[in-house]
Amino acid sequence: MNEDKLTKIVSLCCRRGFVFQGSEIYGGLSSVWDYGPLGAQLKKKIKDLWWETYVEKRDDILGLDSSIIMHADVFAASGHLEGFSDALVDCPGCKKRFRVDHMEKSKNGFHICPNCQTEINISVNKPRNFNLMFKTNISATEDNPNYAYLRPETAQGIFVNFANVLNTMHRKLPLGIAQIGKAFRNEVTTGSFIFRMKEFEQMEIEYFVPPEEAEQRYQEWIDERFDFYVNKIGLSKNSLKLRPHDKDELAHYAKGCTDIEFNFPFGWSELEGIANRGDFDLKEHSRISKKDLSYFDSKTNKRYLPYVIEPSAGVDRTFFAVLCDSYHEEEVNGKTRVVLKLKPHMATYRAAVLPLLKNNSEVVNLAKNLFCDIKKRMPVVYNDTGAIGKLYRRQDEIGTPFCLTVDVESLSDKKITVRNRDTMEQDRISIDMAAGFLEKETGLK
Ligand code: ATP
Repeated sequence: MNEDKLTKIVSLCCRRGFVFQGSEIYGGLSSVWDYGPLGAQLKKKIKDLWWETYVEKRDDILGLDSSIIMHADVFAASGHLEGFSDALVDCPGCKKRFRVDHMEKSKNGFHICPNCQTEINISVNKPRNFNLMFKTNISATEDNPNYAYLRPETAQGIFVNFANVLNTMHRKLPLGIAQIGKAFRNEVTTGSFIFRMKEFEQMEIEYFVPPEEAEQRYQEWIDERFDFYVNKIGLSKNSLKLRPHDKDELAHYAKGCTDIEFNFPFGWSELEGIANRGDFDLKEHSRISKKDLSYFDSKTNKRYLPYVIEPSAGVDRTFFAVLCDSYHEEEVNGKTRVVLKLKPHMATYRAAVLPLLKNNSEVVNLAKNLFCDIKKRMPVVYNDTGAIGKLYRRQDEIGTPFCLTVDVESLSDKKITVRNRDTMEQDRISIDMAAGFLEKETGLK
């Protein structure tokens, strides 16, 4: 994988309706991206799989949907007001601003500007700390402001609702609270596409456990989440690895943290972090809010602050990983064929129905009827906006597993041509069998 591949994936995403630059017609906003029709579908599939796996199919995890705007004291307790900042330096050459910890160093020990390669002496051009949180005024008047913050992670909404969930749902530990939602960070980045955005989506679970169980649960969650990417999302095992944090990387309160990394075009980078956060969060929220957030354990007759294991995943990074993993190029008749080898459950459409001749009304009618029939059972698309070769390439690029082509012969023999996206092999099957064929071949009802 390389930078060239990144450019190609970004271009495919914009060309085929997966991802667009945010506010594009006004020149765009940096590190802000919009999901187009196909992107919105893929993103939803990722979120649905996660929600179904953890909230719907497990008995020990409950869902939550907390607000994005949160009280400033939440972030006094979480440490984000004080500690959530990046050291940034202004390049004297191109005047752009960069994160110091992301810059390479020259032989002379100077930091190199990633944009114009100017050597920056940071003892002269001193870095400054910028808080990553977006502050907003929730008062009706400008002259009497009341500041709140857009959450920089969904987790804090879970911690501040811990007692509400526990008391209303009458649960015992271990108890997980899961949430999918937007988070906001004023990130300074260059060219990492949807890997690092100012507005992004997280899928987080806070799994509350008795302190003595924490280490074992932490290990279980690492295995569980790795398995989710391989067996549920369908990423190849070779593109994933675990990276346990060194002791000196850990936040002072954290007992352990392991990243699941994916081999993105720019190298191995974090897809998800799984942390054993001890009782830090509940303790700090108890201290600042002066509310009792402890748990009474009826088995041991003891009251304590639970420890929490936090598997914290990014929807956008998972989306990006799926695209990187499925992007393929191959040489066909001297031309490059781009194909997104998406697993069928991740593809927007199970199949595309294509009439070979768009001016033949009988062929078009037969194709449209076939499309309407199959659409009752699964997602399919109808397309007659180009020559067949072009239509096949378009479906290859968006990862549609099969194309069903209706031609003049179909009118008499009641058969259609099925083309397989990956092998490009074509077969003739009876029209009546089309939906059943797709269900069997994709393994999806
Ligand atoms: P990084 O070190 O890459 O900045 P992080 O350690 O700050 O990430 P966490 O705070 O652990 O990230 O957030 C959990 C997950 O949320 C990340 O693993 C990632 O998938 C996602 N995430 C965090 N920041 C962003 C962002 N700016 N854009 C997209 N996804 C993000």
